[in-house]
Amino acid sequence: MVTGTMHLVQANGRRILLDCGSHSGGARDEDPFDLPFPFDASRIDAVVLTHCHNDHCGRLASLVMRGFEGPIYTTPANKDILEVLLFDTARIREQEAMLRGRKGGGRQGGGNRRAVRFGTAEAYRAIDQVETVPLNRKVALEGDIQLELFEAGHILGASMLNLAWTELGRDWRLTFTGDLGRSGFPFQHPHAPLPPADMLVCESTYGGETHDTADVMAANMAKAIRRSADEGGKILIPAFSLGRTQLIIHYLRKWIRQGLIPNLRIHVDSPLGRKLHKTFLRHPSEFAEPYRDDLEVDWLEGRDDATDVSLSDGARIIVASGGMLEGGRILHHLRFHIDDPRATLLLVSYQAPGTLGEQMLEKNDSIRFNGRRWNKWIDVKQVRGFSGHADHADLLAAIGPLAGSVSKVRLVHGEPERAGALAGALKARGFQDVTMPEMHETSELS
Ligand SMILES: [Zn+2]
Ligand SMILES: [Zn+2]
Repeated sequence: MVTGTMHLVQANGRRILLDCGSHSGGARDEDPFDLPFPFDASRIDAVVLTHCHNDHCGRLASLVMRGFEGPIYTTPANKDILEVLLFDTARIREQEAMLRGRKGGGRQGGGNRRAVRFGTAEAYRAIDQVETVPLNRKVALEGDIQLELFEAGHILGASMLNLAWTELGRDWRLTFTGDLGRSGFPFQHPHAPLPPADMLVCESTYGGETHDTADVMAANMAKAIRRSADEGGKILIPAFSLGRTQLIIHYLRKWIRQGLIPNLRIHVDSPLGRKLHKTFLRHPSEFAEPYRDDLEVDWLEGRDDATDVSLSDGARIIVASGGMLEGGRILHHLRFHIDDPRATLLLVSYQAPGTLGEQMLEKNDSIRFNGRRWNKWIDVKQVRGFSGHADHADLLAAIGPLAGSVSKVRLVHGEPERAGALAGALKARGFQDVTMPEMHETSELS
């Protein structure tokens, strides 16, 4: 499946964890820190982190809390992002603990919810374990295992990885793609060629699918924005704080400069997105198109600011945190505009089943939201293609050159139909051992 990416490699007597991601869609009041790992965290020798999306790094703090003391290998940009994310988690948990204290302790009702402490001190400890590895440079891990990271073209900091070692008298290589970037949408650098390997563990999120081209995306976005601009309505764009917010800002500015989109003021309501925006600015060489700080974007400071902008006259673009409308600042704005037919809700992310975002896409005149039923008069439009993932053709183009050299392909990070579509296409191209492992399944290299 697409969430909760975590692979354990056992080689030369070492145990190396590739990514340590969270599952989304668990019970809402479940504390992720309470979830057990299917292995002893203290016996993991090292972690290699491909990138900082939650489905790849969300349980790293929990791993550290459960006794993992080894190094976390990742790119320098990932370290910067991880720092922002871990301190944000720590701050939120400390605030929650304080609130619980005021209410007389969390023992009643909520059981031991949020009982595991992860505060600022623990965030410092986790960051101390990070060892940065630049792209395209081999480093030796313990156990005589060579690690090399390569550009993945997915989001800032994202890498693929290759592990190489000698065991039982022969050389072994394993490549893990992490999340692989898409083509034809040049914000990130294109991904590097996949490093040759005996086993390729490859993502398959968009197997069987074709992304819209940048031109189609710009046209779809322009049409939706123009209608609200003409009628004086607000354009609400929910976006995840890491990656999607910065990508949307970049393309809105670019398409406004090119005259494709009406020249509206862009307001961004995303405190975490703003911190990460600053991190993005510190890594200019990581982008294929310059990511700039300028005055075209107004970062909203607090709730009053956000309310003022939302209730102001005229058309404006408001990008706010909360990609699937399951939380975040977007909900604050949605209350003001959900029943305004002049307004547009522009969805730029995948909307998981059961989320408010998915319900907004359904053709109903009314919707339950914020404790009551509302007239759903806002125009809801979805623009596809902002995904930082390779589509079917991209995946085939990436994996194709390994035909004849890679002996095993393991497709992960994809719903069964998507992974299945890719597996079929690979087999048709002569790849013989292609499977989609189940959770907890072991694949042997030999
Ligand atoms: Zn990702
Ligand atoms: Zn992912």
